Amino acid sequence: MQKEITIKTNKKYEIVDITNEIEDIVKDVKEGNVTIYVPHATAAIIINENYDPNVRSDILNALSKLIPEGIWEHDKIDNNGAAHIKAAILGPSETVPIKNGKLLLGTWQSIALVELDGPRSRKIIVSVR
Ligand code: ZN
Repeated sequence: MQKEITIKTNKKYEIVDITNEIEDIVKDVKEGNVTIYVPHATAAIIINENYDPNVRSDILNALSKLIPEGIWEHDKIDNNGAAHIKAAILGPSETVPIKNGKLLLGTWQSIALVELDGPRSRKIIVSVR
């Protein structure tokens, strides 16, 4: 089974929890894996904590400290070299096992879209097998 969801982001940098959307897609799956994939070069998928919102801002701040803006060759093209590098480090997908319609995430884990060059409309492809 494969489904596509669209998330509209509101900021240049943003971490959007999409766990509920993915849980809804897998609710009738007895056993398998779900892969959550963004077909974009300046966005990423991560699994991390959503309970303390500071974790999300810490992740975005750490990326900004590691990868400054405005110093990359690609900036001559469309001024978003840093966004491409951050997306490459985080990666475009995550895979989670499913058991009896539930994602086997840890207590503090959630699935999130990371916007690195928003605001934009982002497509997410969700494949279950
Ligand atoms: Zn670019």
